[in-house]
Amino acid sequence: MNPLVTPPADALHEVLHDVFGYGAFRGHQEAIVEHVAGGGDALVLMPTGGGKSLCYQIPAIARHRGGFGVTVVVSPLIALMHDQVGALEEAGVHAAFLNSTLEGDDARRIEREMLSGRLVLLYAAPERILTPRFLAMLDSLHERDRLSLFAIDEAHCVSQWGHDFREEYLGLSALHERYPEVPRIALTATADDHTRADIVERLALTQARQFVSSFDRPNIRYTIVEKDNGRTQLLRFLRDEHDGDAGIVYCQSRKKVEETATWLTAEGFAALPYHAGLDAGVRRRHQDRFLREEGIVMVATIAFGMGIDKPDVRFVAHLDLPKNIESYYQETGRAGRDGVAADAWMAYGLADVVNQRRMIDDGDADEDFKRLQRNKLDALLALAEAHDCRRVRLLQYFGEDSAPCGNCDNCLHAPATWDATEAARKALSCIYRFHQHGGITFGAGHLVDVLRGKVTDKTRQHGHETLSTFGIGSDLTEALWRSVLRQLIALGYLRAEGEYGTLGLTTTARDVLKGEVQLFLRVPAETPKRVRTTRSRTDRPPPLPLDDSGLARFAALKAWRAEVAREHNLPAYVVFHDATLAEMAREHPGTLEALADIGGVGAKKLEAYGHEILRVLAT
Ligand code: ADP
Ligand code: ZN
Repeated sequence: MNPLVTPPADALHEVLHDVFGYGAFRGHQEAIVEHVAGGGDALVLMPTGGGKSLCYQIPAIARHRGGFGVTVVVSPLIALMHDQVGALEEAGVHAAFLNSTLEGDDARRIEREMLSGRLVLLYAAPERILTPRFLAMLDSLHERDRLSLFAIDEAHCVSQWGHDFREEYLGLSALHERYPEVPRIALTATADDHTRADIVERLALTQARQFVSSFDRPNIRYTIVEKDNGRTQLLRFLRDEHDGDAGIVYCQSRKKVEETATWLTAEGFAALPYHAGLDAGVRRRHQDRFLREEGIVMVATIAFGMGIDKPDVRFVAHLDLPKNIESYYQETGRAGRDGVAADAWMAYGLADVVNQRRMIDDGDADEDFKRLQRNKLDALLALAEAHDCRRVRLLQYFGEDSAPCGNCDNCLHAPATWDATEAARKALSCIYRFHQHGGITFGAGHLVDVLRGKVTDKTRQHGHETLSTFGIGSDLTEALWRSVLRQLIALGYLRAEGEYGTLGLTTTARDVLKGEVQLFLRVPAETPKRVRTTRSRTDRPPPLPLDDSGLARFAALKAWRAEVAREHNLPAYVVFHDATLAEMAREHPGTLEALADIGGVGAKKLEAYGHEILRVLAT
């Protein structure tokens, strides 16, 4: 038997530096890789962009060098394995994937590589791993002490709690039963306690050390605007702040995805639709274009996003309200993985609140689960209506205390509020009158008509013109009333129910009616205009400030990178990140040694591309 050598700490640093070209570990990375390389089990909770991949890749490489053999990476996302493996091979790490997209011959070749122990990392989907054929290969490796580590990515897929549940993940506890002494590392960006407890239980990770990072994403700026005309607001946001940037626009329905994509295209954006109703081939093509081309706006339902590790997504916009804070955090978290400034922007209005409530009410979940969903929605509404720091609230939801961030809309422009106590009483008493008058409830549209004293067929039909509350709110605009109602729902004084979102009083409404609470509500504001940038689509600013000659070098490096990416059939960021190219352009290294000091330039890339880069920089 070969002596197995647990990699010492400096060997892990060496891998970080030589293979990945980075100077230092981030956050918990160092503790994690030491623990796992030493054979410990770990559960890693780290926000998107936190650097989870290195947490298993570095132990995998170090343990392979120590004679431990192959690391098997469980990933649910077949479509992304090709790029993940491509990135490792670019860095000089022998990696492969096994999935249904491979031809028989290729699969056989990779199986041989795996069985020989030459492969450092093998990616596969859980359903593949649990086949008798695959398990037989694992057995064979195991018997020869060549099964080094299991990495279970997107580990929250084992929990029914979130929206990414995958049945096949449940079978993964078998790995522990069959190979109890092979270390396992499970990773996820889903933070809540319930999901975490599910992962521990279902993957049998009770002995695993847990590494919980802060969930703050300081480079993401959170902005939530009141929806007035969602499209116009989105257009202004995109034109003013993200012309030419890659980003994601989330919509709730497939239909809205299609319409929004068509409309953005007509407005001159490179927009593509993505939802589960599209043909698999179309989805793959659109995803590829998003990853490989610059400046694509993906208009999508939540079917899009998990595992997308494109680092330079500059914005995530929501045209509809997500389900809860967990979803909001996950979806917005896809922006700015590279640590460069990014935006999380959302427009939401009364109709969103009513719709989300209705979807919960109409769902076929049991009453307990519905109650839970309603509570979660309420927490999101409270975030959307907050007058204070969004980030403080967001982090608080995940159990973290923090100070006002200075990088959210509320911190940057404190929202104006007004004393809406009187208006709220008028609205609530009008609903009370409806109830007295005929025992029927009505939706927001009719309520606003009655408050504003507008005669309609419906007011006539129900005799509402005779109510004492008819016209008592004619001093406020319709938009202001809708904003009041939305906030009353969010604050729990009103309930929107059923297919038509009819409004009913809650028990706490009485406190308002009796004048026992004073209500300060947000003044509906126009989206605050930020400094208008006049960028054209082709010259996005680099992630670092550069002078003119630096900019020219940056452009030349990008053109060169595009060529390489095309040749290798990989997204450009797999070759080098923008940040790496920008640092090259700024530092202008003249030798290979100097080039090696740039963050993101590992030994293999230096060898493969060093001379080329120096040539590009010299011209
Ligand atoms: P996650 O999977 O947690 O969302 P990734 O593993 O994709 O995050 O890492 C996010 C980005 O940060 C990647 O571009 C990665 O190369 C970079 N990164 C990770 N760790 C480091 C580090 N120690 N130093 C510099 N960059 C890092
Ligand atoms: Zn803030």
